[in-house]
Amino acid sequence: MPAKAKNPHVPFGDQQTAPWYGKDILTVKQFSRNDLEYVFAVAHEMRIMVERIGTFDLLKGKILANLFYEPSTRTSSSFMAAMQRLGGAVIPISEVKYSSVAKGESLPDTVRTLGCYADVIVIRHPEVGSAALAAKHARKPVINAGDGVGEHPTQALLDTFTIREELGRLDDLTVTMLGDLKYGRTVHSLARLLTQFNNIKLNYVSPDLLRMPPDVKEEVADKGIPQAETSVLKSVLAKTDVLYVTRVQRERFEDPDEYEKVKNAYVVSPAIMKSAKKRMIVMHPLPRVTEISMDFDEDPRAAYFRQMEYGMYVRMALLAIVLGKA
Ligand code: ASP
Repeated sequence: MPAKAKNPHVPFGDQQTAPWYGKDILTVKQFSRNDLEYVFAVAHEMRIMVERIGTFDLLKGKILANLFYEPSTRTSSSFMAAMQRLGGAVIPISEVKYSSVAKGESLPDTVRTLGCYADVIVIRHPEVGSAALAAKHARKPVINAGDGVGEHPTQALLDTFTIREELGRLDDLTVTMLGDLKYGRTVHSLARLLTQFNNIKLNYVSPDLLRMPPDVKEEVADKGIPQAETSVLKSVLAKTDVLYVTRVQRERFEDPDEYEKVKNAYVVSPAIMKSAKKRMIVMHPLPRVTEISMDFDEDPRAAYFRQMEYGMYVRMALLAIVLGKA
């Protein structure tokens, strides 16, 4: 269940009885299957509205503070686009070195400040638990846009929305996660979120050094989801419905030599993909470095660029939901 509602002064017109009104979004563990269906239904509506009219005034008068302590292209710009397509405004803080953070301001004080000006705060920060800390001190709902190697819940929501829109289902799927499963926060969130669906099988393909963390595997096992680990993609590719490729997260390695050892562990190429199903999809949270060769991009199964667009619809849905307008 979501945390307690924030925003003691409810602005006129907000649906404060809506179940997610004023709530933080910190982890995928907050979402039941019903919640997911609700988010996807709203995201689908957003898609239709954007295709039909582009921009509309659902969040007119609302302000988003977009606070990024780590690099981002898609998450940051899709949240900004989402807010602007809904008629709202954005305070973008992506260069924290130009903010009072550079003067030594603490995270609680920074979010206390932004809570005075904005209606919702999106935060990305290098430390696990930072979004939860921000949420504790902010008067307004906080959305976790990646907390170090912890979670990236909005990415997992857009990933599952992508699967639903592309394959037409979220049950009866074999999902193979490939690459840096140790440091990749997107796969930590996605593996957890997929436990909500029926007849899911998870394959984890990685070098030994980059295996899925035990705590994630335990949580997934507790939900009765079968998981298999290997370092050989070929052994599981033919049965895969979703191949979820990740970048080796260079910035998380303490020892650069270790990164060198594993950086080119896998490259998904047209030749390799010959043994995959005709009807399946390849996803990637992006940015891609070398783990999918560019000559695969034109293959209809390459869903990673479409995935970015689905992300904006999901983020539009999430903003509307926590601001009581969905
Ligand atoms: N953009 C994703 C993230 O922020 C994936 C990545 O950086 O590799 O986690």
